Amino acid sequence: MIVILKPSIDERSAEYEYTLKALQSIPRIELQIHTVKGIQETLIEIYLLGDTDHISKDNIEALPGVSRVIRISDDYKILGRNTAHHNGFSFEYNGVLFSQDNLNVFAGLCAVDTPENVESTMRTLQAHGQVCTRMGAYKPRTSPYAFQGLGKSCLANVFETAGKYGIKVIAMEVTHERHIEEISEILNNLGHPTGVMLQIGTRNAQNFELLRAVGSQTMFPVLFKRGYGITLDESIHAAEYLAHAGNHRIIFCLRGVKSIFGRPHRNMVDFAHVSVIHRLTRMPVCIDPSHSVGISSRSYDGISDIFHATAQGIISGANMVLVDFHPHPPSAIVDSRQAIPLKELPWFLEDIAITREAYKKRKNLAKRHGNE
Ligand code: PEP
Ligand code: MN
Repeated sequence: MIVILKPSIDERSAEYEYTLKALQSIPRIELQIHTVKGIQETLIEIYLLGDTDHISKDNIEALPGVSRVIRISDDYKILGRNTAHHNGFSFEYNGVLFSQDNLNVFAGLCAVDTPENVESTMRTLQAHGQVCTRMGAYKPRTSPYAFQGLGKSCLANVFETAGKYGIKVIAMEVTHERHIEEISEILNNLGHPTGVMLQIGTRNAQNFELLRAVGSQTMFPVLFKRGYGITLDESIHAAEYLAHAGNHRIIFCLRGVKSIFGRPHRNMVDFAHVSVIHRLTRMPVCIDPSHSVGISSRSYDGISDIFHATAQGIISGANMVLVDFHPHPPSAIVDSRQAIPLKELPWFLEDIAITREAYKKRKNLAKRHGNE
């Protein structure tokens, strides 16, 4: 059950205190208080977790500070979008807005390799107006003999270079709780020249201890990648672990699912699920065309499969694109087959702008026809 308080309520007021006390007195119910920053207004929502069947919605709605009560109909107690009018989770992190209504591009290195490549990637991003990137330091690899990422040793250089080129958010996968400490320690030492979005990789989608660890810190937002071998429902439940642990700043990333039927692509591209995540949950949705498509081949029309897949996600309203670029793809140590040459960044961004405009037009068209 979600109790939405009156928009203007003051947390020091008597009506707020009275309402909170009344909710706290309900037996066997855990309360979670969350401030939801919508595009238009900021609301306080109180989640009543536990068996709420016996609680009267009318009694709660009669409390002085309450605006409305939503009975949660499904299992996604915190992340679920329970009615069409239920606000999405939007948040600002390090000056960048994330929501179900806007779009951010995170182009960058799959794996950090050399300081020169970090520098030229970030310089190029800045030259094209970008403030976000991806930089893999901790790489989960199929073989223990493969390059495992530079880990902690590359963080200081990556963060300093980001600061130098105005990069505000770096998506970076963590595979162990210790990595969160390493990232925050180095950011603190450097005086926070940039921000980090912690990434949960597809292989760890159901690593519940890692999810609890990442979810119970609120310093960094989280990019959660769907599991490549589990259902969408199971992936959303896994993301719910993050929210239940206390962190609601979550972006859900589609990155394809493992299937031989996706061949010649690396995975079966699942971007038709963008609208499903928007409908079922309150999370902004990211697409990762690099790991889903996995090859940089071009079609007869001169457009690569990765560009096409990106367009397919954006035209359905995706809110973030996580994509591998490299100054010289053949020399990339990890996933070289899917990296887009850095010199193609302006082409990629212009292509995205075309499809984003088309999505906006489609949304307006739906508004006109939907109201008929
Ligand atoms: C990545 O983004 O670097 C990555 C390893 O992706 P995934 O977890 O989706 O395979
Ligand atoms: Mn990769």
